[in-house]
Formats: sequence, structure tokens, C-alpha cells
Amino acid sequence: MRRALERLDAGTYGTCENCGGLIGAERLDARPDASLCIECAAIRPR
Ligand SMILES: [Zn+2]
Repeated sequence: MRRALERLDAGTYGTCENCGGLIGAERLDARPDASLCIECAAIRPR
């Protein structure tokens, strides 16, 4: 959770670390600490 807040502060919260795309609101709702979008998470588990 702390990491998510730091990311929010950095302005990267909700943005995929891999492709830079937006992480869906649904996914953030289920995984507020998600750093990859659903597509990248499927390709690169963890
Ligand atoms: Zn992605």
C-alpha cells in the first residue's frame, strides 16, 4: 500500500511499468498495488 501511495505521488499510479499504458480501473480496484496492466501481467507474471 505504501508503494502504491509513492507511485501516486510520482504520478505513475495507474500506469503500466512495462508498456506505459493505463492499468484498468477494474484491475486497480482489485489490485491497488498493481504495477502492470492486465496484458503485461499475463505475459510477465509477477
Ligand atoms: Zn502493460
